[in-house]
Amino acid sequence: MSAAASDAPWLDLAVRLATENVAAGGGPFGAVIVRDGALLATGQNRVTRDNDPTAHAEVTAIRAACAIVGDFSLAGATLYTSCEPCPLCASAALWARVERVVFAADRHDAARAGFDDREFYELFARDRATWPTPVVELRVEAAAEPFDAWLADTARTDY
Ligand SMILES: [Zn+2]
Repeated sequence: MSAAASDAPWLDLAVRLATENVAAGGGPFGAVIVRDGALLATGQNRVTRDNDPTAHAEVTAIRAACAIVGDFSLAGATLYTSCEPCPLCASAALWARVERVVFAADRHDAARAGFDDREFYELFARDRATWPTPVVELRVEAAAEPFDAWLADTARTDY
C-alpha cells in the first residue's frame, strides 16, 4: 500500500509538531493518528522532558489516541510520523493494530541528527549474542505459569 495525496497534510502536521517540539526543548519527532479522516490524537517526543526513554512521538500519540477512544486497539487508524518509526515505535504500531503507518524522514536522516534508530535496526538484524546489552534466558521453574493462568482464565480479555 503506497502513500496517497490525502496523506500529505497529516504528514505535514506531524513534521510541524516535530519542529515545534525542538523549539520547546524536546526531541525532533512528531506523530498524528487519524481514523475515518478525523484527527484522533497527536504526539511529540517527551523523552527528555518526562525522563521517559519510551516517550517517543508515536508512542505518546498511540497512548493519547487509545485514551480518547477508550480502546487498546486502533484498528482502522493511520499513524503519521515525522520520521520512520524506530523498532520500539514500529512494534507499538503493530501492538496497537493500526492499519498503516506513513512516515516522512527516514532512519538515515535520524542517524545524521545523532539518533540510534538505524543502529537499533541493524542490531535487531544481528544475532542477539552480539548485542552490547546481554539479553539472556534463565528458565526458572515457574516460567510458564503466567501463561497457564492466562489460558485458564475464561474471563480474560484477548488482545
Ligand atoms: Zn520510536
